[in-house]
Amino acid sequence: MPIYAYQCGSCGHAKDVLQKMSDAPLTDCPACGASTFNKRLTAPGFQLKGSGWYATDFKGGATGAPSSSDSAAPAASSPATPPTTAS
Ligand SMILES: [Zn+2]
Repeated sequence: MPIYAYQCGSCGHAKDVLQKMSDAPLTDCPACGASTFNKRLTAPGFQLKGSGWYATDFKGGATGAPSSSDSAAPAASSPATPPTTAS
């Protein structure tokens, strides 16, 4: 699920909210209660906590199990990674 950066227009309270794309956007500020809590289109200093977060991965709604194609895996006989010797 994507994380949206919200900010209150009244008190300036900012919060990152984890929402589905289909969820209705929040409007009420959790800090002051005003209905001026809006998404920020651009998230300055957007921080990725952890690795492997791709917001574009969630388009299309993946249903079902991941493709289990364990039939003919090519046994790539990869030798030990050659040392990068800059000669
Ligand atoms: Zn507020």
